[in-house]
Formats: sequence, C-alpha cells, structure tokens
Amino acid sequence: NGSPKTEVGAGGLPEDKTTDEAPVSPAERSLLQKIIRRGLVENKNDIEVQRRDPSSPLFSIKSFEALHLQPQLLKGVYAMGFNAPSKIQETALPTLLADPPQNMIAQSQSGTGKTAAFVLAMLSRVDTKKDYPQVLCLSPTYELAIQTGEVAAKMAQFCPDIKIRFAVRGEEIPRGTKLKEHIIIGTPGKVVDWGVKYRFFDLGKISVFVLDEADVMIAMQGHQDQSFRIHKLLPRNCQMMFFSATYEEDVMEFAEGIVSDPVIIRLRREEESLHNIKQYYVMCRNLDEKYTAIANIYGVVTIGQAMIFCHTRKTASWLAEKMSRDGHAVALLSGDLTVDQRIAVLDRFRDGKEKVLITTNVLARGIDVEQVTIVVNFDLPVDVTRNADCETYLHRIGRTGRFGKAGLAINLVDGPESLTLLRQVEEHFGKKIQQLDAEDVDEIE
Ligand code: ADP
Repeated sequence: NGSPKTEVGAGGLPEDKTTDEAPVSPAERSLLQKIIRRGLVENKNDIEVQRRDPSSPLFSIKSFEALHLQPQLLKGVYAMGFNAPSKIQETALPTLLADPPQNMIAQSQSGTGKTAAFVLAMLSRVDTKKDYPQVLCLSPTYELAIQTGEVAAKMAQFCPDIKIRFAVRGEEIPRGTKLKEHIIIGTPGKVVDWGVKYRFFDLGKISVFVLDEADVMIAMQGHQDQSFRIHKLLPRNCQMMFFSATYEEDVMEFAEGIVSDPVIIRLRREEESLHNIKQYYVMCRNLDEKYTAIANIYGVVTIGQAMIFCHTRKTASWLAEKMSRDGHAVALLSGDLTVDQRIAVLDRFRDGKEKVLITTNVLARGIDVEQVTIVVNFDLPVDVTRNADCETYLHRIGRTGRFGKAGLAINLVDGPESLTLLRQVEEHFGKKIQQLDAEDVDEIE
C-alpha cells in the first residue's frame, strides 16, 4: 500500500494501540497453514463415526499396503515419506476406496491428512483407458487448488498416464475444446464455466466429486450456489466426498445438501494448552530496552526458531528493519504482503533460512511448526475492549499434546498498561509468569 514510510527510531514509535491488520480470511488462513506446516499434526483424540452405512462394516487400516493400491500409487505414497496412514486416513481410506463407492463427510483440523486421503482416493479411481474427466475436485481458491494439485502430482509421480488439469483463473481454452484429462481440480466459478456453460467436459461422466475445505467454501460469496449448480449435473451414482476442518451447523447443512447417505467421520480438534511451556516476562522501560531484550533473545536461539508477535505492522516492520541492519537474519510476515510474497516468506522460514519470524496477528493460530521453540510477544495481544486477548495468547503460545518438548514464551512489558494485561493472562490461565531481567535473557537456557 502507499502509506509513507514512517521514520521511527527507538522510543519514537507512534502510539498506536489498535492493530492495523485486516482480519485474515479463512481461505488465506488455511493456505498459510498449509505452507508453513512440515509434517502431520498428531492428534490424540479418537475418530468418531457419527453415521455409517449399516450394510458395510467400517474398518480401519494400519498400513497403506492393506489398501491394495495400484503398486505405482503405493510407490508414490512412500516416495512422499508417508510410512503409515494418519488417524483420519486409517478410517477414511477403506471407505473411500470401497466398492461400491460410498459417500463420505469427514471433518478434522488442518494438517491431519485429509488432502492426502482424498487425493489418493481420486487417483485410485481414475481409469486411464478413458480419456475424459472422471474426477472433479473443488477448492475454494486458486492457491488452495494449486496446493491440492501439487499433492496429486507428487503422489502420481509414478503413474505417468494419469493426467490432471487445473480449472482456475488464468487457464483459458478455446470454445469447443473437449478436455481429455482424467482429473479436474478447480475453483467453483471456473468449473461452472467449463462444465456448465461451455461444456468443455461432461459433468454427467464424473464418477468422483470432492469438495475440499468446505467450511472455507461456504464463507465465500457465491461458492455454495456454484457448487450446487455443478452438483445438479453430476450422475446419481457419483461418489461424493466432503472435507472440512470445522463442523459447524452451516457446514453440515451444506454437506447434507451435497452428499447423500454419507458415512460421517470426525476427529475432534485437540485443545491447545500452556502445559510444558515456560512463560516469562521482561520489564522494559522503553522501546530501546525492548529491542535489547529481543537482541539478547536472538543470541540464545541456538536451536529451533523463534516467532515474534507485534501488535501493528508498523512495529513489525520497524523491528525487522532494525534487526536486519544489526546483521540478524529475520523474516517479516505482515498483512500488506501479496499471497505469493507470504508463501515465499513462510517457505524460507520453514526451511530454516531465517531463525526468527516477525509477524503481526496475521498468524496467531496454526503455527504448528515444530521447530519454533520460542515465542515472543513484543506486544501482548489485546481485544477490542483493551483487555488481554487470552484466546490469541493461547493460540500464539499454546501447543497441543504432540510436542513433548518444552516451549518458551517471553512477554515484553513496557509499562503499567501492559503489566495489567500480563496479570490478566496469568489470572486467566492460573499460571504464574516469571520475571526475567533484560540483561539475563540467557538465563533461560
Ligand atoms: P489436511 O488436508 O488435513 O490439512 P494434509 O493432507 O495436507 O492435511 O497433510 C498435512 C501434512 O502431513 C502434509 O505435509 C502431508 O504431506 C503430511 N502427511 C499427510 N499424510 C501423511 C502420512 N500418512 N504420513 C506422513 N505425513 C503425512
């Protein structure tokens, strides 16, 4: 954006207590999570089967071999480094691959292996002897469609006969074209154009229909209607798969409108907690001291990576600039970046190119990055009433049970106001936050 660069030095930051970040859309959040995550999110909860087809016993598998996949597909699965199915895959895959095909509604939080599950099902159902689209997958946005397509391409790396086509913005084909690819992955608008308006392929020949990120889908204007328009032209015996990270009423209504007689499976989100997290605060008199604390913390991040949360973009970019000038390798993620820029920043951070990621509220939840061992609140999170935003605090710092190792949280407190916030956090969670001297930050190791 065109806002002038403010010249700020230590202590000279404008008093700005309201965050200037626009809320991140569900689609964006979902994308960022996908980008930054390296592995599977482990979840200790049990899969709940909410509804099943009584004629077919639901079973689960402990290995990919048990699925009797085509050898080339199995090879692809292993080449991706998947040794055993994830929790949701154990239960979903046998049902998704069963004959006769069964419909499914599956819900579990991001990172638990849903995409890999339905991509595997999509690929297994392709008949390469037929040269027309048989599998259709709808994703809410361009970027999410591309992510899914990349997973499909990787998993099908030993199946050169399977062809995939993106139906997303920027893809143009001449009128009268008849698509020959087996799998179409696209956004609802473009798929309506191609399948309903121009008939580049016959929706009546689709045998597998996947709705991915359905909860994100319904949050987007027009997507639900377009999905219904597409759905209407699908054959009755088309297998429907519906995936969502959340399980709200409106999502389920949408699901039931699309998927008839489904098997419904659900993996409850594991709650975050502050268990195993050491929390500290550092009293700073001014911005200078806050900076000193940060610089000291940087010095002790020898293993793992750190994230620093700032309240405003301005503070975040000021801090990033200053640290860079002082020779520290830091990354900056804020809301004024384009999607591509964000992806690039997160890719670099995930690959360890920078030890520190400075960010605003763009990323509170979902930084399930195992290697992030230190989280710093340069500013404590506040809600609209100017009280401590304990939920955001938990999302930034808390972890689910999956990482046994201890994490570290450091809060910078720069006056009575932020000390009050800190006390509110302590009280809310019933956990004391220890004081640390700015000079003694290295005590923490
Ligand atoms: P979701 O769609 O639920 O967000 P993904 O399918 O994208 O989850 O999987 C999350 C991450 O875990 C991805 O990096 C993916 O490569 C990896 N993953 C998925 N299934 C497995 C598995 N069985 N074993 C190991 N890693 C997996």
